[in-house]
Amino acid sequence: MKQLEITITNETGLHARPAKTLVNLVKQFKSNVTIWHGEKKANAKSLISVLTLGASKGSLLKIEANGEDEETALAEIEAAILAGLGEGEAVKETQEKPVAPPTSKSETKPIEEIKPTKTNALRGVGASPGIAIGPVYQFQHQEIPIDEISDTLVVGWERLQDALARAREQLNKLNKQMIEQGMKAEAAIFDAHLGLLDDPELNEAVYERFQKGQDALKAWKETIEDSAMVVAALNDPLLSARADDLRDVGRRVLRLMVGAEDKADLLPDKPVVVVARELSPSDTVSFNKDLVLGFCIVNGGPTSHTAILARALGLPAVVGVDESVLKLENDSYIILHGSDGTVTFNPLPEELQLAEQERNAWLEKRRVALEHATTPAVTVDGRHVEVVANAGSLEDAEKALKMGAAGIGLLRTEFLFLERTTAPTEAEQFEVYRSIAEVMGKRPVIVRTLDVGGDKPLPYIEMQREDNPFLGERGIRLCLNRPELFRQQLRAILRAGLYGNLQIMFPMVGDIEEYRRARLMLDELQIELKIPRVAAGIMIEVPSAALMADVLAKEVDFFSIGTNDLTQYTLAMDRGHSLLSAKQDGLHPAVLRLIAKTIEGAHKHGKWAGICGELGSDPYAVPILIGLGIDELSISVPSIPLVKAQIRGLKASDLQALAQQALECATARDVRELVKKELKM
Ligand code: PEP
Ligand code: MG
Repeated sequence: MKQLEITITNETGLHARPAKTLVNLVKQFKSNVTIWHGEKKANAKSLISVLTLGASKGSLLKIEANGEDEETALAEIEAAILAGLGEGEAVKETQEKPVAPPTSKSETKPIEEIKPTKTNALRGVGASPGIAIGPVYQFQHQEIPIDEISDTLVVGWERLQDALARAREQLNKLNKQMIEQGMKAEAAIFDAHLGLLDDPELNEAVYERFQKGQDALKAWKETIEDSAMVVAALNDPLLSARADDLRDVGRRVLRLMVGAEDKADLLPDKPVVVVARELSPSDTVSFNKDLVLGFCIVNGGPTSHTAILARALGLPAVVGVDESVLKLENDSYIILHGSDGTVTFNPLPEELQLAEQERNAWLEKRRVALEHATTPAVTVDGRHVEVVANAGSLEDAEKALKMGAAGIGLLRTEFLFLERTTAPTEAEQFEVYRSIAEVMGKRPVIVRTLDVGGDKPLPYIEMQREDNPFLGERGIRLCLNRPELFRQQLRAILRAGLYGNLQIMFPMVGDIEEYRRARLMLDELQIELKIPRVAAGIMIEVPSAALMADVLAKEVDFFSIGTNDLTQYTLAMDRGHSLLSAKQDGLHPAVLRLIAKTIEGAHKHGKWAGICGELGSDPYAVPILIGLGIDELSISVPSIPLVKAQIRGLKASDLQALAQQALECATARDVRELVKKELKM
């Protein structure tokens, strides 16, 4: 056994990020590593355990390693701690220049910006269009009545293991489903839940309780609760999300142990408007969608998973609502305006009547839009906008055709690569791409090459540990460093292209060299396979690419702006962050200026520019994007008919000035107000 003593110098101690960095590092070694902080002891391969050490700046830790690679393990751990566990720069910076505390509450609480519009109304962020009117149902996590159950049911160790195995199965399935729907952040959450299920320290703590004579059910529940409480008490917003994850996983296993009904069955058996502080991905996917009229959520923004799911289901949703909605009584009436984010509670009879008229008009609008789904999207003054679909499977492609898509503007190919132990073969990939190409016929299908990376590692690809996976080896960077994997995919796409109209798009390009290297590989393969030149474009989702659009446009065939990532990187806000997501609005003038620059750069060289992020189906964004000159909108399948109908009602020549005004606005909220006022929405 080897040991060392070391002092933590990180400004905020061993909080979530450095702790995770440390745990990920230690997991790479075979040795058992224990960390002592005074009397407290932690298994260094368990995040929960390391977090509960509560080590702050100046804490002296004793680290012991025991095993065949103990020496290397300790040396690397020491080096990593000395380097600041991924926070080296931050530490230096805070020492030189103390960071001032926030000057006003609104800097930390986006919700404060949301002002009531009238006495019985609140304004949140419209996340999915439509109008919902109905009784409130305050959704809370169902507590499982352990005490009553354990009187009649003694849960043994095997039953717990069986529940854990089934939970693992469910989480793997959910993870896959989310990926197929393009909901990467949610997929990552289920992946994190899987990590928690396998946390060695958690399992050991449960086992200890069980050995001391506690029933496995109680041992599990209490261990989860204790760990979540300790983690939540550390008062770190990132950690409180971990505590919520722990509770979510804990409830899943408990339900499986006691054979409890799924939460879907626990909704009242009549249609309701679901009101909640936050919905976990597990909650949202388990609801019986026929009984949900709409969602009214306190946390979360327009790119949160509830918002994406609500849009996919065609249900109205308002997010980022003031938490006073949580005090509304069950069964009291509420009206949600999913487009402008207004929430009216306890409406007066005349308000109810008006809302019903509006809802009927909206339903009629949707019916007409569906009826005319295949009519082209041409503005009243003759500007044609190509409306195409975001798809992740053959099934999506088939639905897209029925909904009037002119093609596929983004085929996410990740679904073929995840949840497996080896990469899909060229033949497997070819079959899938070919079937989609055939279904779409002459219509263009833009196949995005593999877009995975540090935040979504593939088990069969060796990858370096990263402190900031979103800034790491993602997208095209990963493919360029794995030429065999990349070539295999390109060959499959090129061959499948002979059965339809496939084009290729590279994700996360930040620099022209990356595009050139990718294009060169493509050109070589075309020669080898004797296939004529295929168009290749890039996603614009990194600010550097948007700023250099006029240079890139000389060489690439087209641009498709990935506003989900472009917003994340421009505003420096993690797209999955629960506290920041309400602020992540792609209509932020900073993002709009980058979009404008991209379109301008493309047109200067006769190339086209489209949008394939969530912003493309936002009714407030559509007029601005047309005003900026966008050529194509690639959007989720259910949004297609409505967006096409909206375009048919707009006059492009009026929108240029509107878009210019939007670029001059100060905030995303100002842009929304402007569109609302000018277009009387
Ligand atoms: C985007 O970033 O806007 C995008 C469309 O890509 P993804 O959501 O798959 O990252
Ligand atoms: Mg992206």
